[in-house]
Amino acid sequence: MIGGRRPSLGCMAPTGLLDDLRTALGENAVLTDPDLLRMHQRDEADLCAAGTPLVVTRPRSTEQVVAVVRAAARHGVPVVPQGARTGLAGAANAVDGAVVLSTVAMDEIREIDPVSRIAVVQPGVVNATLAGAVAKQGLWYPPDPGSWESSTIGGNVSTNAGGMCCVKYGVTTEYVLGLEVVLASGECCAPAGVPRRAWPATT
Ligand SMILES: Cc1cc2nc3c(=O)[nH]c(=O)nc-3n(C[C@H](O)[C@H](O)[C@H](O)COP(=O)(O)OP(=O)(O)OC[C@H]3O[C@@H](n4cnc5c(N)ncnc54)[C@H](O)[C@@H]3O)c2cc1C
Repeated sequence: MIGGRRPSLGCMAPTGLLDDLRTALGENAVLTDPDLLRMHQRDEADLCAAGTPLVVTRPRSTEQVVAVVRAAARHGVPVVPQGARTGLAGAANAVDGAVVLSTVAMDEIREIDPVSRIAVVQPGVVNATLAGAVAKQGLWYPPDPGSWESSTIGGNVSTNAGGMCCVKYGVTTEYVLGLEVVLASGECCAPAGVPRRAWPATT
């Protein structure tokens, strides 16, 4: 650890929570290293309050997101989603004892259909990665927050991010045709508005 004090865990892990998470995600996607917990305390909003998470999880699929949310709900622990943590409002800041659900490992572009001009992506895909991938197919993804080289599509959707191009071409929500949503209960809502064919059988 470089500088600063070691983070203290805000509270003890409820019995069985870490085991449940490791069973669902595997050891490598359930992180409790104190330096890493400290790194995931906050986004770019230095002045907003932040706590120390109990654990950082890195699910790779919707099924694993559901498993994280259900385990947290079972044990009465809050969940804080994090993308690239470039937010400027503290909205991605952890609270003490939370389960951080980081989308960094959900970074697959599942499909780009140049005919219907639809891309199906996981939430952790970085804006610039998607923009570069569609450009190879002669397309353009206009939403361009200043953080586009590091912020994620999930974070962009959540904050309805926009940049210079958005003055003319609109903000992120104008480019979203459908979302697969995992509710706090662990229920998964199927997307609406996207041609079935474009939706992956597994995410
Ligand atoms: C240098 C710089 C320039 C910026 N320029 C702009 C700009 O021009 N325009 C602009 O709008 N913003 C800008 N921002 C702010 C920030 O980059 C955006 O808000 C961006 O959309 C956040 O994306 P992220 O992946 O970092 O999300 P995070 O900061 O990690 O999260 C932001 C919010 O989204 C939630 N979240 C993230 N992923 C998911 C998910 N998959 N499901 C549900 N909730 C989720 C988090 O809980 C949090 O509430 C800038 C930031 C920086 C540091």
